Amino acid sequence: MPTLISHPAVPLAIVAIAGFRNVSLRLLLAGALFSIIPDADAIGFRFGISYDHLLGHRGFFHSPTFAFLASLIGASAYRQLRSSYWTAFLVLFVAMLTHGILDAATDGGLGIALLSPFSNQRYFLPWQPIAVSPLGLERFFSARGLDVLASELRWVWLPLLSLGLIGILFRHLKMKSQSPKRNRVNARPKRIGIGIE
Ligand SMILES: [Zn+2]
Repeated sequence: MPTLISHPAVPLAIVAIAGFRNVSLRLLLAGALFSIIPDADAIGFRFGISYDHLLGHRGFFHSPTFAFLASLIGASAYRQLRSSYWTAFLVLFVAMLTHGILDAATDGGLGIALLSPFSNQRYFLPWQPIAVSPLGLERFFSARGLDVLASELRWVWLPLLSLGLIGILFRHLKMKSQSPKRNRVNARPKRIGIGIE
């Protein structure tokens, strides 16, 4: 997996593109949570669930089907998330769906059960530039951990940051192109009524 701090880069990029007018802070935080939930399946190791099991690490809980179902349910809190149902669904779904896809672009582990629960076959993307993160914290705080962070900076944060900046620029330009029109409307002289006083 990329580390837990890198998956929330996706909802952050969504907010940068869509703006806080469309995605509330609460929805952003829920998106960040949804982006890391799939890795809770690593707890299965403690309960003897093997890596290649349907419910094992990178199994069903990393699949698009789980992301779809969890987002359908999660979006029902749309009022608390200060959003519409479908905006909440979309943000939560993309945040969680991309977790499995990013994991499939890592260079280690068993691969992701992208077709689960219909098939437990594990998949990687044809291109796997992201260095896989070690599962143990101890191993993470080592030279390998630094390699992983550098790799995520390059292949996760930089592309998403660029996408987010393009989104901010695009929104800024859009606002600018709309503002003269608004000024023109405001600048229109008020009709002087011919009143009899
Ligand atoms: Zn993962």
